[in-house]
Amino acid sequence: MSSAIVRAEAYLVDLEVETVRTDAVQAFLKQETIFVSLSTSDGLTGLGYSYTIGTGGTAVLALLRDHLLPRLVGADARNVEAIWSDLFWSTHATTVGAISSLALASVDTALWDLRCQRAGEPLWRLAGGYRQRVPLYDTEGGWLHLSTDELVAGALASQKAGWPGVKLKVGKPRLHEDVERLRAVRDAVGPGLDIMVDANQSMTYPEARRRAAAFEAVDLSWFEEPLPADDLTGHVHLAASTSIPIAVGESLYSVSQFREYVAAGGAGIVQVDVARVGGITPWLKVAHLAETFNLEVCPHFLMELHVSLTAAVPNGRYVEHIPQLRAITRSEMTVVDGHAVAPDVPGLGIDWNADAIDDRRVA
Ligand SMILES: [Mg+2]
Repeated sequence: MSSAIVRAEAYLVDLEVETVRTDAVQAFLKQETIFVSLSTSDGLTGLGYSYTIGTGGTAVLALLRDHLLPRLVGADARNVEAIWSDLFWSTHATTVGAISSLALASVDTALWDLRCQRAGEPLWRLAGGYRQRVPLYDTEGGWLHLSTDELVAGALASQKAGWPGVKLKVGKPRLHEDVERLRAVRDAVGPGLDIMVDANQSMTYPEARRRAAAFEAVDLSWFEEPLPADDLTGHVHLAASTSIPIAVGESLYSVSQFREYVAAGGAGIVQVDVARVGGITPWLKVAHLAETFNLEVCPHFLMELHVSLTAAVPNGRYVEHIPQLRAITRSEMTVVDGHAVAPDVPGLGIDWNADAIDDRRVA
């Protein structure tokens, strides 16, 4: 029995941020959520999505409606690689780029939802099936506008709840401010909690090198996005100059960009984001690429999808805790003893609230 796509539609839903989130270069304004719904001749409907943190959502929607979705009708939804490749090459003049990768991801995640439903399997198993529970670290207590006391209180609360790690934003104007904040948290939690830091691409190579040297005594698990993502050379030099693993990936938009980073030694932790890389199909390629270099994957944001993907692969290390779908889901991701549990139902495993989604449609 074939599974031809008979209907393809896209729409945009705006979600208010669940808490104020700031870093060295930006604030999370709202989650523009781009949904793609695909129905097939064998009676299934898959729902996929991608996101922005506040700008560009209507551009993604226009690319889908004007160019990508019309190509899908009649295609066999089981041929995920063929569809991904066709859509990628059909946008060749505007690819690789953030808008096209986000559009591809909303289609690809819908195709994987269909694939999992058809197989009667949850995503974590169909995408690889390594283990169902993954360590979770918290970012919600580490935003840059929070005071040192608030950072300490947040880290202690995470530790008390049994979480294995917390992430703190860095990039205050002066080095000593960053160091004092990190030192206060380390002194409060002791050696048993992983602490990661994130500069959100805000530094130059000389400044990042200086800060990394000062951060080393705090015992950090990684230094995330120290430099602009297109400065591969700077990342390679920085990685060679510090014992702190350099984490990159949330601002890379293709498998080949990851290949360049990993092969050059510019990434010690791979943070591939399923929306920004173009969907589950390329996400898995990046995760397997990282495995061949003996690197761990700690994906960026989107914990509701990344819990299943991180659980699927042997080198999945951590899921990032930033809840942002509560307004449009009926139940939350399960967390047990600081570990996220991948859903065991067929499909992507996100418990969408269709009425709440409809209420928040803006286009
Ligand atoms: Mg980050």
